[in-house]
Amino acid sequence: MKYVSTRGAGEPVGFFEAFSNGLAPDGGLYVPQGFPFLPSDLLTDEPLPYPALAWDFLSLYDSDHEGDDLIKLVDESYGDFSEEMSAPLTQLSDNLFILELFHGPTLAFKDFGLQLVGNLFEEQIKRTGESINVLGATSGDTGSAAIHGLAGKDGVNVFVLYPEGRISKLQERQMTCTGAKNIFPIPIKGTFDDAQAIVKELMGDLEFKDKMNLSAINSINIARVLAQSVYYIHAFMQLPPENKGDVNFVVPTGNFGNVFAGWMAHKMGLPVEQFVVATNRNDMLYNFFNSGLYEAGEVSPSFAPSMDIQVASNFERFLFYHTGKDAGETVEQMAKIKTDGKLNLPHFGRDNFTATKSTDDDILRNIAMVKEKYDYVIDPHTACGFQDLDQNKTNVVLATAHPAKFPEVTKKAIGEIVTEESLEALKEKTQKRYPLDATAAAVRAFVEKNAAE
Ligand SMILES: *Cc1c(COP(=O)(O)O)cnc(C)c1O
Repeated sequence: MKYVSTRGAGEPVGFFEAFSNGLAPDGGLYVPQGFPFLPSDLLTDEPLPYPALAWDFLSLYDSDHEGDDLIKLVDESYGDFSEEMSAPLTQLSDNLFILELFHGPTLAFKDFGLQLVGNLFEEQIKRTGESINVLGATSGDTGSAAIHGLAGKDGVNVFVLYPEGRISKLQERQMTCTGAKNIFPIPIKGTFDDAQAIVKELMGDLEFKDKMNLSAINSINIARVLAQSVYYIHAFMQLPPENKGDVNFVVPTGNFGNVFAGWMAHKMGLPVEQFVVATNRNDMLYNFFNSGLYEAGEVSPSFAPSMDIQVASNFERFLFYHTGKDAGETVEQMAKIKTDGKLNLPHFGRDNFTATKSTDDDILRNIAMVKEKYDYVIDPHTACGFQDLDQNKTNVVLATAHPAKFPEVTKKAIGEIVTEESLEALKEKTQKRYPLDATAAAVRAFVEKNAAE
């Protein structure tokens, strides 16, 4: 399989190159040249163990690994997940299911992508003999998942900027208590956008990027998206036969990476009626799928902080397919978003996407409703998925994080909290943090001083 940029420049590249570049050199995002059909026995036979399914799926997209290398990589990536099935499907009622994606090391679905990415980086370092420095900004879950994918690995140092005081205490502990020497969590005084701007500035300085061999961890990396397609198939295989005819996947959404991964599986033959893009009060995608107007507002903090995003970085992939893979038109539309702050496509084809939105009050109400009706506790992100469910369909709601990660909101909603062993253990550990001024110069000097050997 080869990958092309949504902006059309350059020659198609293989899996290794698409992975190591992250962003294509023309500023576009990589997409596979085609969607291979899922082998039909994958959908009809007994459910496979998760790593076996992941291998079957990823080998359709990766022609660069040789022999058993991909099998080994996938086994290493998902061996640490706490449930044997990794992504268990829990049935709440006749036609309502929860896909639990929070059994990885940092208790959020981002582990599925970033465990694999960590091992791919390790392998790249061995193959090329060049050490790398990973630089990223996080509003919580991406940073901790990336840190746990890379902690203790040789030849890579990880620098993660986050806004001091604006991520949850447990999210901070997940990043600062690893005890690994190659991990540098950096609180800055400012917002997530400030952190992101510093990362963008340093990544944009090509001389510095080259000298430090800087790599990114954000969800534009195609390897992360592919890794996430796997659990949609895994969920479908676990459904009772009578539910397989009318499946809606309901996906709490921020950067549009997770739901896009599901849509790719659908294009490969996974039978899905609808993808429900569930947003919080940051409702840019909700508005788009309801009216065709894509217009950025201010990001407003919510009870579901990992979805506090307005401009969704994976949206460019959606545009590319909806222009009939027309890179020229995609470039025009992206430029319009940049210059006008909006894009209006009133007659665009929605394909099988619909959208809902949840206010903070809706989030509290949905957590309480699910607890009362099904005696099951969901986290505030997952709660957005329970808004305006179409009761006539089989709904599979993706549970994107463990409720123990967000005790304050859970307490507010149902008067009790859920605990989890690995999070409790963190409370005893010492934190290691490297606070810096919120300037690119300060971060640049720090990365230079602490770069991987
Ligand atoms: C990142 C995240 C999301 C949003 O996922 P996207 O791929 O950005 O759409 C939802 N819930 C949780 C818990 C997350 O960490």
